[in-house]
Amino acid sequence: MTWAALDQALAARGWRTPFRGPFSGAVATVGGTMAQHAVSHGTGAHGISAASVTALDVVLADGSLLRTGAPLVGGPPFERHCGPDLTGLFLGDCGAFGIKARISLRLLRAQADHAALSFGFDSWEALHAGMRAAALENVDDTHFGLDASMVRGQLRRPRGIRDTLGIARRIWRTTPGVRAPLSQLARMALAGERGMGGWPYLVHYIVEGGSRREADARAGRLRKALGAHGREIGNTIPTVVRSQPFERMFHVLGPAGERWVPVHGLLPHSRVAAFHADLERLLANHAETMRGQGVWIGTLVECVGSGGFMVELGLYWPDAASAYHRAVVDTATMAQLPLHAPNPVLHDWIAALRLELIALYRSHGAVQFQLGKVYPYASAMDQPGLRVVRALKAALDPQRRMNPGVLGL
Ligand SMILES: Cc1cc2nc3c(=O)[nH]c(=O)nc-3n(C[C@H](O)[C@H](O)[C@H](O)COP(=O)(O)OP(=O)(O)OC[C@H]3O[C@@H](n4cnc5c(N)ncnc54)[C@H](O)[C@@H]3O)c2cc1C
Repeated sequence: MTWAALDQALAARGWRTPFRGPFSGAVATVGGTMAQHAVSHGTGAHGISAASVTALDVVLADGSLLRTGAPLVGGPPFERHCGPDLTGLFLGDCGAFGIKARISLRLLRAQADHAALSFGFDSWEALHAGMRAAALENVDDTHFGLDASMVRGQLRRPRGIRDTLGIARRIWRTTPGVRAPLSQLARMALAGERGMGGWPYLVHYIVEGGSRREADARAGRLRKALGAHGREIGNTIPTVVRSQPFERMFHVLGPAGERWVPVHGLLPHSRVAAFHADLERLLANHAETMRGQGVWIGTLVECVGSGGFMVELGLYWPDAASAYHRAVVDTATMAQLPLHAPNPVLHDWIAALRLELIALYRSHGAVQFQLGKVYPYASAMDQPGLRVVRALKAALDPQRRMNPGVLGL
C-alpha cells in the first residue's frame, strides 16, 4: 500500500492520517516507511511517521504473529500504549526484528480549508531562526525549506502544458469557495518564478484549518514568527505541493539527468550553526574537485517537533542512470534528460564524501532515519544500549534471517 493510494482512499471518505507520507509517497509504501521512519507531509503538526501508529501485527522469524498495542491484551488496535511500547520496537528497525504485516494508524477528519505561505531568507542563520520560531508556534501541517541550488535544480524543471493544466485543475479542486481558487491561481501567475528569485533560502508552509478563518489565524501566527527573520514571497510552491502532495518520481535524477543521493541528519537546534560552519569548511576543501567534475549539492530542511532541525543534502553528479531510475522515472521524462556515461571513479568519490558528511553530522550530535546499512547504528551505540538491542535480535531472530546486516546487527 503506497501513501498516495492510502491518502486517496481516505480522502474519498473525508479522512486523513496525521502523518500523510514522505514526498516519495507515490511509490513509497507504508510498510517500508514504518520500517525506516520518515518525515514530510503532516510532520509539522503530527511528527514523524512512527507517531501516527497505534498497533502492529508483526511476523517474527519463527513464523509466529506478534500483535502490539491494545491487541496485545485482546482489544482492537485503537491504542498504542499498554505497558512497554512494543509497537515502537518495530518502528525504525529497518526490518531487522520482523515483518510488519498490518499497520494501524490514527485517523483525522480532513480539514476544509488551508493557507499556503512562503518566505525568503538572506542567510542560513535567518532561515534557521525563522523556522525555529515557526516550529515553536506548532500551527503548520507541513513545511520545508530549500536553498537556491535545490530550487533551481528540482523545482524549476520545465513542465509541459498538460502538467501545468493538471496542476491548475488540482488547485481548483483543492481550494474551497467560488472565487478563492481563481484568486489563488491569479496570485501565482503574477508572482510566478519572479516571486521566488534572488533569495539564497526559501521556506514553504501549508496550514490546515476547519474554516478559512481558522487557517488564516494560524497563518497569521506563522507570518509573525517568520516575518521577524525573512520576507514573505509568492506562495506558488506550497500551493502546488498542497494540491499534489505525491509528485511523479522525477526527483531521483537531477535536472540534467545527474545521479542524486541524499544524506541527512536531524540536528539539535543548539548545534545547527556549528554544523553549518563545519559543513562550509568541508565543502570548501572539496570545491575544486566538485567544480571540475560537475558535482553540486542542494539542501532541504525541515523542523521535526520543536527540538530538531533536519538538514538533507542532495549530492548530484554526472553518471549513468541505473535500472532503478528507468523503473521509477516515467519514459517521457527519461527521454528528455541527457544521458551520462558510467563514471565509477566519481561514483566512489561521492560514496566517500557521503561517509565524510555522515561523520560530520554525528560529530554534532545528529541522528538519522532510514539507517539501513549506510548510517552507523550498532557500531555507534553505547554499551548498555547495544547489549539490549543485540539481546532483542538474538531473541527475535536467532538465525539472523531478517534483513541480515541492517543496523549493523
Ligand atoms: C524522490 C524521493 C523523495 C523522498 N522523500 C522523502 C521524504 O519526504 N521524507 C522521508 O523521510 N524520506 C523520503 N524519501 C526516502 C524514502 O522514500 C522513504 O524512506 C520511504 O518511506 C521508503 O519507503 P519504501 O516503501 O520505498 O521502503 P523500502 O526502501 O522498500 O524499504 C525500506 C526498508 O524497510 C524494509 N521493509 C519494507 N517493508 C517492510 C515491512 N512491511 N516490514 C518490515 N520491513 C520492511 C525493507 O526491507 C528495507 O530495508 C524519499 C526518497 C525519494 C527517492
